[in-house]
Amino acid sequence: MPNGALRAELLERQERRESSARTYASTLPVAPVHASGAVITGADGRSYLDCLSGAGTLALGHNHPETVAALQAVLASGAPLHTLDMITPQKDAFTTELLDRLPGGLRGDARLHFCSPAGTDAVEAALKLAQHATGRRGIVAFTGAYHGMTLGASAVSGPPRMSGMTGADSVPVTRVPYPSALRCPFGTDSADRSGELSTRLLESLITDPSSGVGVPAAVILEVVQGEGGVVEGPDGWLREVRRITAEHGIVLIIDEVQTGVGRTGHYWACERAGVTPDVLVTSKAVGGGLPLALIAYRPGLDTWRPGHHTGTFRGNTLAMVSGLITLRTVAEQQLAERATKLGESMRRGLREIAASYPVFGDVRGRGLMIGVELVDPDGTPGRDGAAPGNPELAGAMRAACLERGLILELGGRDDTVMRLLPPLIITDEQADSVVERVASALESVV
Ligand code: PMP
Repeated sequence: MPNGALRAELLERQERRESSARTYASTLPVAPVHASGAVITGADGRSYLDCLSGAGTLALGHNHPETVAALQAVLASGAPLHTLDMITPQKDAFTTELLDRLPGGLRGDARLHFCSPAGTDAVEAALKLAQHATGRRGIVAFTGAYHGMTLGASAVSGPPRMSGMTGADSVPVTRVPYPSALRCPFGTDSADRSGELSTRLLESLITDPSSGVGVPAAVILEVVQGEGGVVEGPDGWLREVRRITAEHGIVLIIDEVQTGVGRTGHYWACERAGVTPDVLVTSKAVGGGLPLALIAYRPGLDTWRPGHHTGTFRGNTLAMVSGLITLRTVAEQQLAERATKLGESMRRGLREIAASYPVFGDVRGRGLMIGVELVDPDGTPGRDGAAPGNPELAGAMRAACLERGLILELGGRDDTVMRLLPPLIITDEQADSVVERVASALESVV
């Protein structure tokens, strides 16, 4: 069968058989058959630079040779691949490595709870643990957040498409504005000031007896919002949230599902501000591309009894092996530092494009978590004073990038932000090529 025909046939069958809640499959009509490093090859023989990386999962890229060899060795060894939560040498080695890599205050003596394997499962576990340990139910979350699709996790997420129709009532959630320089609801264009106002509101809601909120069990946040459009919380804001939560005995849950393991230029994004959460949520890169999720938390919170939080798929031997190699390689090869350097150079290139094309309303991000917000510069500014987002242009850009062999996704309010999440091992030449392809795509659509 000619390559193009195989691609068309696979896509056509998928369209007929799979749910209409499909996401990437509908906007990125690629049928991948081969992948290596930052490159995916489709059934039609076309190659793409992958700036989606399994939604930020593949820190070491596709089919990292050492990882593949280690997985083959496990498969050949007869080791059990599925062990519920029983201990295996592979799980033990992964645990040792992870404990050594955790942020300062958790390093060495955190408790780990291995969850069912998705990020959302670990968020559920974190929320439940906080409620159980404090005896309180309320949760404070931030606007624009994304924490997952299960009911509890979606209840603490922001956009309606993500919070779903049923999640909102399952957890009593209070939302506080996430700091933003571009779109701050308090009307400031300084991210630091926006952060100050956000924490002032948070503290007032918690301490004012007439606020109707009271002291919650937990505050949950992302240090850099990913799906929310690559929005970075300032360090001062994060430190202030830490102070407030510590003073009031509130569990601070930091969701590092997307930011963790080098992505933002630090091993954990919270480390730049010198903040340690009470519960750190991790998945995606921590499993090296295979399904794995867990929470790491202060031992004092470990009030659970056996069986309080379970799940069948908590002992995936292959994921422990690929996760261990990823954790170690990111540290040994200083891939977080590389993410800082490459991210800065890619943002510089994108800002040069923005200088000639005002539709690139904002180029932002941290490390290799990069966002470009597309706006209508002639549109009526919104209440935040910024030019309105341009979802049509963003959709056209995603398609034009795909035509030029570049896979990227959209996020943020109304899907107006192009998000680039390349593997941390992307080469300098590939990174330059990403920026060139974006420039060429923009020329073609405006
Ligand atoms: N938290 C964050 C910050 C995420 O970015 C995501 C996924 N994009 C999740 C949680 C949910 O992870 P999963 O899709 O594996 O459930």
